[in-house]
Amino acid sequence: MECTKCGAMYDADHPQNVCTKDGGVLFARYDLPSLKNHFKLSSLDGRAASMWRYAEVLPAVAPVTLGEGFTPLLRSREFTNAYIKDEGLNPTGSFKARGLSAAVTMAKAYGVKKLAIPSAGNAASALAAYAAAAGLESYIFMPKDVPLANRVECESYGAHVTLVDGLISDCARIVAERSEREGWFDVSTLKEPFRVEGKKTMAYELVEQLRGRVPQGVIYPCGGGVGLIGMWKAFDEMEQLGWIGPERPKMAAVQSDGCAPIVKAWDEHQRTAQPWQGASTIAAGLRVPKPYGDYLILDILTNSGGTAVPVSDLEIMDALRHWAKVEGVFAAPEGAASLAAYRQLRASGFFRPEDFVVLFNTGSGLKYLEVIHAATKPKSVPASRQIGGIIGPY
Ligand SMILES: [Zn+2]
Repeated sequence: MECTKCGAMYDADHPQNVCTKDGGVLFARYDLPSLKNHFKLSSLDGRAASMWRYAEVLPAVAPVTLGEGFTPLLRSREFTNAYIKDEGLNPTGSFKARGLSAAVTMAKAYGVKKLAIPSAGNAASALAAYAAAAGLESYIFMPKDVPLANRVECESYGAHVTLVDGLISDCARIVAERSEREGWFDVSTLKEPFRVEGKKTMAYELVEQLRGRVPQGVIYPCGGGVGLIGMWKAFDEMEQLGWIGPERPKMAAVQSDGCAPIVKAWDEHQRTAQPWQGASTIAAGLRVPKPYGDYLILDILTNSGGTAVPVSDLEIMDALRHWAKVEGVFAAPEGAASLAAYRQLRASGFFRPEDFVVLFNTGSGLKYLEVIHAATKPKSVPASRQIGGIIGPY
């Protein structure tokens, strides 16, 4: 394991969270020069259609798998050179399955018994499912207004669920305070090194599904930013393996304008983000006031020639309905934000029509039924307007 801040190296023989010197995110490192000789794109032929087909660049232990990954890369029916990577088809209906499959796999291998997570929703369901599959206990802390599906799923998987009157940052504080005393291993975003390893497989899949090509752009909904960080790591690994050259996609991080710490830091040319005050958006997964890996995300945007884009809840809902009607893809609000961002980036000329761009749908709309329903139905008449039983034309 290598610290992404100071470069300190750690053995991977016991469970770890972050660098003990500076709190930096730890990256798993592999002997890529030796792998290069025998691990090629053609090596993948005939392997299981899950993220574990990239076993050489994942931990070498028995995986806890529910068939995550190898999701479809759909050619857009509306935009000639756009593709939709549909992560809604993962177990538990979101891209979180990848990271938690890897994290729970390692926790089981290390002999950890109890796992804890603060989550805006989908990571909680994924942890609960993989912990159930592994026979481990999971302790979940979610904002009390998370989408109902996540809560019902977690309870069904037998997780210990605590609803918190606050944001994911408040949940994270509770987990940090109680973990040592309770004997929990904290699998928070980027405080557990293997979630990045699971998420990075999205980039391996892109390159495999595109037969060795690298897209010119990737639009990615950025809450904690693990997928962005993981994919960037994977592109570097693939270059060292000789699968691709130095070409990289422009990485565009999309956030809700109701919680846009990365966009603000990007616009102000900062190296880290400031905590966003009063975070509010229908895209629960984007409600992360200060991503732990902010310094990594901002570096990636810089090094890739990318950008950060804010979109409004109205744009998200419009994109969600549009994608469903035009593409047949019923996206999560976070995923629909990718389309809203693509529209903006096409309008501004950042992406040209001939640029080959992948839009990530991070989850299924089926997990947000009450949110989408509430945002779609006509507004009910406010009680103050119902004077004398006469209902106004609202
Ligand atoms: Zn360090």
